[in-house]
Amino acid sequence: MEIARRMRSIPPYLFADLDRKRAALRAKGVDVINIAIGDPDLPTPPHIIAALTEAARNPATHVYPPYEGTAEFRQAVAGWYARRFGVSLDPDREVLALIGSKEGLAHIPWVFVDPGDVVLVSDPGYPVYQTATLMAEGTPYPVPLRPEDGWRPDLGAIPEAVARRAKVFFLNYPNNPTAAVADLAFFNDVADFARRHGILVVHDNTYSEIAYDGFRPPSFLEARGAKEVGIEFHSLSKTYCMTGWRLGFAVGNPEAVQALGTLKTNIDSGQFTAIQAAGVAALTGPQQAVRERVATWEARRNAVVRGLRAAGLDAPMPRATFYLWIPVPGGYDSVSFAAHLLEAAGVAVAPGIGYGQRGNGHIRISLTAPDDRFAEAIRRIGDRVGATARPGGR
Ligand SMILES: *Cc1c(COP(=O)(O)O)cnc(C)c1O
Repeated sequence: MEIARRMRSIPPYLFADLDRKRAALRAKGVDVINIAIGDPDLPTPPHIIAALTEAARNPATHVYPPYEGTAEFRQAVAGWYARRFGVSLDPDREVLALIGSKEGLAHIPWVFVDPGDVVLVSDPGYPVYQTATLMAEGTPYPVPLRPEDGWRPDLGAIPEAVARRAKVFFLNYPNNPTAAVADLAFFNDVADFARRHGILVVHDNTYSEIAYDGFRPPSFLEARGAKEVGIEFHSLSKTYCMTGWRLGFAVGNPEAVQALGTLKTNIDSGQFTAIQAAGVAALTGPQQAVRERVATWEARRNAVVRGLRAAGLDAPMPRATFYLWIPVPGGYDSVSFAAHLLEAAGVAVAPGIGYGQRGNGHIRISLTAPDDRFAEAIRRIGDRVGATARPGGR
C-alpha cells in the first residue's frame, strides 16, 4: 500500500507536541482551559431545533434530497441575501446547498484548478484553502497579509506573472484567524483585479453576522461586477450556532455555482432535507437569537480584551468574528508562547503558524468558552505569565 503523492503533500501537523503536552497535563489532573477552538459555546436557537424535529417526522424528508438543495432552502437563501445585502440571486441558478461551507470550499479547486495552476491563498489564512488546492494538484501562492495593511492583501504587490497564472483567489472577510474586516471599496478593487486577470474570486463570508459595535460586514457580491468574477461561501454554523448540523451554501456566478453542483452530484447526495428545513427556519425566522448571541460575544470580547491587557498581553479589539489575534511577546514564536501559556497557566490557545508562516508572531484565542472560564484564564495568565509576557520580560 502506498499513500498517493497528493496526500503526502498535506503540510505536516505542527501541533502534535502541544497536543501531547495538553493530554499529559490533563492526565496529571490539571484543569486545562481550552480557548483554542472556534466552535460556538451557545446552543442552536430552539425554533430551529423545532423545525428539524417537525420535518424529520415527515417521511417525505427520508429520501434522497435534490442534489442542488431543496427549492425552499435555495429560496430562503436568496431572500436572506436580498434582505441582508441587497443582492438579488436566482435561486435556481445562483444558489447551491452545501454540507457545511468547508465541503464546498474544499471542492472548488477540483472544478477550477488543473495540475500546476496557481491559486492565491492568504498567509495567514483558513488552512482548507491551501490543502484543497494541493488535493487538486494546484500550486498555492501565499499572498502575505500584514498588520500595517489591516491584514488585507496588497493587490498591487502580487507579481504580474503570478496573477497571470492564477485561476482562483481565496479571500475571507471578516477573517479567521486575524479578525480583520474589509469594506466595499476593497471588494471593488478585488473584483477589478480578478476581471483584469481572469481569476475566480472565492469569498468565504462565514463571519458576516458576527460583528460588533454596529458594524455590518458587506458581501463580496455587493461589489461592482462581482457576480461576473465571484462565488461566495456561507455557513449556518457560526451565525446560528449550528456547527454540528453541517449546512452551508454557495452563491454567485451561475457558471461557477453550477459547475460546483455538477462535481457534487458525483460525490455526495446532498444534506438531509430536514436539516435544510431547519436552515429555512433559521434564515427566514426571527433573527433575535442571532442578535442575542452576538451581544453575548461582544460583551465577552470587551471583558476578555480588557482582562488580557491588564494581564500583560497586547490584545487588539476585533470588530468582527469571535477571535482575538494577539502578538506574542518578544523572545517567543507562536508555538513556544502557546506552550508557555499551556505549561504555566493551563490555558490552551491556537499558535498562529497553524494558519501560515506569517501567523508565527501571533496566537489566536477564540471567545467561544463560558465567561467564568475566561475569568479564570485571565487570572492565571496575570498571575503566572504576565511578568514574562511584558515587553523586555524575557
Ligand atoms: C468555521 C469556518 C468555516 C467552516 O464552516 P462550516 O460551514 O462549518 O464548514 C469556513 N471558513 C472559515 C473561515 C471558518 O472559520
